[in-house]
Amino acid sequence: MTNSSTATNNPAGWRLKLSYADLPELFYVYANPTPMPEPRTVVFNSELAESLGLNPTLLGNPESAAIFAGNTLPPDAEPLAQAYAGHQFGHFTTLGDGRAILLGEQITPAGERMDIQFKGSGRTPFSRGGDGLAALGPMLREYIISESMHALGIPTTRSLAVVTTGEVVRRETPLPGAILTRVASSHIRVGTFQWAAANQNPAALKALLDYAVQRHYPDLAEAENLALSFFEAVMERQSQLIAKWMCVGFIHGVMNTDNMAISGETIDYGPCAFMDSYSASTVFSSIDHQGRYAYGNQPQIAQWNLARLAETLLHLIDPSMDRAVEVATEAIQLWTGMYERHWLAGMRSKLGIFNEEIEDADLIHSLLEWMEKSSADFTNTFRDLSTDTPLSDDPEFLVWHKNWVARLQRQPQSLKESQTLRQSHNPVIIPRNHKVEEALTAATEQGDFEPMQNLLAALAKPYDSTMDTRSPYSLPPDPGAPPYRTFCGT
Ligand code: AMP
Ligand code: MG
Repeated sequence: MTNSSTATNNPAGWRLKLSYADLPELFYVYANPTPMPEPRTVVFNSELAESLGLNPTLLGNPESAAIFAGNTLPPDAEPLAQAYAGHQFGHFTTLGDGRAILLGEQITPAGERMDIQFKGSGRTPFSRGGDGLAALGPMLREYIISESMHALGIPTTRSLAVVTTGEVVRRETPLPGAILTRVASSHIRVGTFQWAAANQNPAALKALLDYAVQRHYPDLAEAENLALSFFEAVMERQSQLIAKWMCVGFIHGVMNTDNMAISGETIDYGPCAFMDSYSASTVFSSIDHQGRYAYGNQPQIAQWNLARLAETLLHLIDPSMDRAVEVATEAIQLWTGMYERHWLAGMRSKLGIFNEEIEDADLIHSLLEWMEKSSADFTNTFRDLSTDTPLSDDPEFLVWHKNWVARLQRQPQSLKESQTLRQSHNPVIIPRNHKVEEALTAATEQGDFEPMQNLLAALAKPYDSTMDTRSPYSLPPDPGAPPYRTFCGT
């Protein structure tokens, strides 16, 4: 088929393939999206569509809502639900896509392979007691926060579209139903490996390893010990990712092993939120009573999750179980050093520091201690350090500030260069909880999507130094506001 006839038959630009179905059948079940009564596109990501080789004008128009509702399948779509397991709050369980369906993998003009997945498109064989549906508010929330993460430079799944379905979703109250089209470099999770291991299927596990390497770590294909090298590479990407979360005050909220992607992308935006005033123990999720997934616990939880991944790989690491455990234990112990290195690098940049001094960690920790004591706003404190805005006249802060300025003077770069570094690492605009809620309320209660569009436009340029820290998007919540709460599986 020539290019021009492809364009005529397929003007939207779909180029769907399905490598996932080459895996053993253990890993998926073919399942069609449930047709929806009244699809309507409420938000569409033209820039992302374009990067996927999709036609934004055509797909963003009202007729295309039927595609993003699953009523009309794009050419070559072979929808399936993926099987996986996972530790949820430390407890192992089998799961699978209970309300998500993979349409296929879009081959982009740059030659990348990107999963196109619907979230909220009806029941699948993995739905258990659930209805397979999603409500509008949480799907818009995922759209806003994932796109903001992308703009912040943090690896993440993306959001292509949200359509309302015309279906009523029954939660505590009846809510408008919606479907999010999620784009990811894959949906292979730590929990996908756990699923193969739980089925005691070594051939399936090896096939999954080879597939994950081919898709995400092709440079490792010739590695002497593939399973071990893969494990270390996943650990490296996760350590970079978690360090980035920590540097912007992001709290994932539900770091179950099924919500940790092998690609190193942030995945599954449920109860996540950005921290306002700094406290390492911050938790937003209404179900996280023990604070398992608190801000300050995220690095250790990631290591715990990775240990679960290592367990699934043991027999591929070494035929002798004792030796495999020894090697895997050594590998998992590398986590702390890896993570600390990325975190320190990120924090040094936030403070405008180019070179390394051993005391830098203390300088950073003493700032964080002061911030915690004074309930300082995380984002704005760092942002104020990027400008000349006087931050506080608290004597303790002034001592810290003097040490910091002295530190900046002990590097060859000028203060101007330091400031440029700070400005490119300290966002002015993050998705503030109260602004996100305001946009969601307008959209879901009044059908007014303008506040959300305005918020998305501001979030698209988080490091824009012309944005004033007094912009409405930068202001912390009203001190009298009740504590912010988030919810899972909504
Ligand atoms: P999550 O908390 O989003 O990671 O979801 C955990 C598991 O519950 C996954 O297997 C989801 O597919 C499933 N799930 C969440 N909500 C629903 C729903 N409304 N219907 C069916 N399955 C669901
Ligand atoms: Mg999940």
